[in-house]
Amino acid sequence: MLWLIMTTGKCNLKCKYCGGSFDGKTVPYEEKYEISDLKRLIENDPDPTIIFYGGEPLVNYRYIMDVMDKIEFARFGIQTNGILFKLLPERYWRRMNVVLFSIDGREHITDGMRGKGVYKRVLEASKYVKNLGIETIARMTVTEKTDIYEDVMHLIGEGSFEKVHWQLNVVWTEKWNFSEWGRLSYIPGIRRLMDYFMENLERGRILKIIPFLGVISLHYFPKLRGAACGAGYSSVTVSTDGRILSCPIAVNEDWSELGHINKGFRLIYDDYPEECKGCSYLKYCGGRCLYANKERYWGDEGWREIDQLTKEYLGIVLGKIGRINELISSNIIRMDDLKYDPMRDSTEIIP
Ligand code: SF4
Ligand code: SF4
Repeated sequence: MLWLIMTTGKCNLKCKYCGGSFDGKTVPYEEKYEISDLKRLIENDPDPTIIFYGGEPLVNYRYIMDVMDKIEFARFGIQTNGILFKLLPERYWRRMNVVLFSIDGREHITDGMRGKGVYKRVLEASKYVKNLGIETIARMTVTEKTDIYEDVMHLIGEGSFEKVHWQLNVVWTEKWNFSEWGRLSYIPGIRRLMDYFMENLERGRILKIIPFLGVISLHYFPKLRGAACGAGYSSVTVSTDGRILSCPIAVNEDWSELGHINKGFRLIYDDYPEECKGCSYLKYCGGRCLYANKERYWGDEGWREIDQLTKEYLGIVLGKIGRINELISSNIIRMDDLKYDPMRDSTEIIP
């Protein structure tokens, strides 16, 4: 199971789509529970992956060290903006299995949203981690400024990241002209990117573009019981106050609370919105995002706009399954090499 351990609600940046730190009353800036209670819960899990999360997790790097020292049997990873990477001693970095860096693509796109100088610092951090032999993932936030083809290709070409993943900046900010951007920019970019993915596949090379690879994997190896991110059934979040949540963004919402570190917790299953129940994409999408489905800040109409785009993207990826079957039959690729488990990486698959 995936355990997202929030080490702090504080962040050292104030990115435009997020606004920075959580309120310290909701997500305290350091842990308020006994680590022995956390260990007791995680010990019941036969295959735990712990991903450090925030705020910015490195702000409370001492707690990262404490968890890695005391719950030494887990797999480890971190989702970080990378700025404070020098705070964590190298011997702890070496024990990470995966590091996800927040970077949005080209320098002007990243710095335009996250602040001047962020791009260069993230690359410094990702090169450091990659040189230690640890897997790196670029974790993009995609906005109306993003050119999905150019920005993903930039990150692939840059060479510091083994995998690329992205999330759409929808629902939790003010509504923007999303549908038009989707029609004019995003969907044409997805088509080009998918063509590039297929050109590589024809040569036996599997690019780790997670929103493509994850969906293809789900075609051959179905496993969803809810949102593709695993929220609430394969993934839980431990907040610094000891609450156990289904989703790390939903820190204020009652529906997100699964329990408490002192009392245990229950998982959720099949918490799909009505709109998804008859959808032919459900086994690939799982209703996209549990948080967005519950909160619907953009209203039902906004939900449908996002859904329309999700369906178009899924149609583009799944439209290649016929050719992928042929590539498997002719031994150019192996089906097993298409298997991707997002719970090992803490990626959501569906943008
Ligand atoms: S494509 Fe849309 S309707 Fe279908 S499962 Fe995903 S979110 Fe639900
Ligand atoms: S995809 Fe949605 S439900 Fe899943 S972790 Fe992200 S915000 Fe939460």
